[in-house]
Amino acid sequence: MSTTLIKSRLKAFNLQQGRCIYCELPMWLDNPEAFAKKFKITTKGAALFKCTAEHLLAKQDGGKDLESNIVAACHFCNQKRHKCKKPKDPISYKLYVSSRVGKGRWNSVLIPSHHISQHM
Ligand SMILES: [Zn+2]
Repeated sequence: MSTTLIKSRLKAFNLQQGRCIYCELPMWLDNPEAFAKKFKITTKGAALFKCTAEHLLAKQDGGKDLESNIVAACHFCNQKRHKCKKPKDPISYKLYVSSRVGKGRWNSVLIPSHHISQHM
């Protein structure tokens, strides 16, 4: 990853208050263990919340590693988006993720721990 990309990702992460641009769940930059501990999930589960740099305009379409073209997305959303044969553009993808989150049909790794705490 280029230095510009790392800087842009950090800036986006701070601007978004550490939350994913798509699902709005919290993310981590360099400490999965602390994240796992905080949310009472496994380190493996925490891997889904790694902050990744997402290009608004894809690289193959001429998108650059500039701040204006970078948003911070969690690994889960990033991975899902690129799994599609024809990836959705960021705006339609955000709408898609929001509706799935609303129905409880998105990344549920953080949800079980909430259930546990409600029963305690
Ligand atoms: Zn996400």
